[in-house]
Amino acid sequence: MDFFAKKIIKWFKTNQRNLPWRGIKDPYKIWLSEIILQQTQVNQGLSYYLKFVKNYPKVKDLANAPVDEVMKHWQGLGYYSRARNLHETAKNIVIKYKGVFPKTYVEIRELKGVGDYTAAAIASLAYDLPHAVVDGNVYRVLSRVFGVKLPIDSGEGKKYFQELANELLPKKEAAIYNQAIMEFGALYCRPVNPDCENCIFNSKCVAFARQIVNELPFKSKKIKVTDRYFNYILFTTGQLFFINKRLTKDIWQDLYEFYLIETDRRQKPLEVLKVKELKNIIKQKGFNIEKVSKEYKHVLSHQHLYTTFYRVRTKQVPKGMIKVKLSEINKYAFPRLIEKYLKDENIIE
Ligand code: SF4
Repeated sequence: MDFFAKKIIKWFKTNQRNLPWRGIKDPYKIWLSEIILQQTQVNQGLSYYLKFVKNYPKVKDLANAPVDEVMKHWQGLGYYSRARNLHETAKNIVIKYKGVFPKTYVEIRELKGVGDYTAAAIASLAYDLPHAVVDGNVYRVLSRVFGVKLPIDSGEGKKYFQELANELLPKKEAAIYNQAIMEFGALYCRPVNPDCENCIFNSKCVAFARQIVNELPFKSKKIKVTDRYFNYILFTTGQLFFINKRLTKDIWQDLYEFYLIETDRRQKPLEVLKVKELKNIIKQKGFNIEKVSKEYKHVLSHQHLYTTFYRVRTKQVPKGMIKVKLSEINKYAFPRLIEKYLKDENIIE
């Protein structure tokens, strides 16, 4: 087993990417980078990391920021619960730990939004504690090198891989080893087209020898995808727009949107504008529909959203909605789908 850690650390020392969070020991910045990089590629997350560190250099700066501002900085990165949890956790660290990031694995693991993987990453990278990380990269590398076919989405598989990762971890080099295995998975043992011919492990890799590289890691369940049909009514009067904040526990909580009518199937424009709930917020008869957009398909991990935007001019202010000047629309955090529509319509740049 020793060969594995030695080889991968050696590989890392000469092949690692130069990234702003490499080599730092500040647990706050490591936490930021780890949360940003969950479900996000490094290329995409990099500018967000720099933006957060610049705007909130210390955990108390993040804690004191208004939630709308934090969401705005997160706009476009997706999985918005991460931003809400970051903000809430920063506040808790200020209250419970007087602004000093907790130092033990157990305390770190208790922070909201921090799971086993993130706690192990912070504990090892910031404090050199001997905790092995297991993320998507680690599952891939270990399942292939050691030829493990247990499903990574089963309890048994998770337990097995965590134990294997713990066994492989050189206790005194936890920080560099954890970074090395994740970097190797990201750069070399990639999900598709891994460079097996030139790989440092190819003489020992079970998956390569048995030609089952593309079958590993194994997953037992397929993701169930739900189709949803969104109809956004973009009310305008003069230079004013009307928006709502999404407050329900659903996708995009705490982001802003136009008036939403969700239907169980694709609707014709006139059918949408006849729905009762719309009549409740605008009493006047005969809306002036200025424009109906093309249908946008927005793909999330578990949902496909089919969305049409209706621009409706009205003299009445829709009940309960937030009035926004066109020039100020950029201050609000919208989901990427709406941002795309606003750009397509030249409403924002
Ligand atoms: S030989 Fe291929 S599958 Fe095996 S560790 Fe190397 S890159 Fe991954």
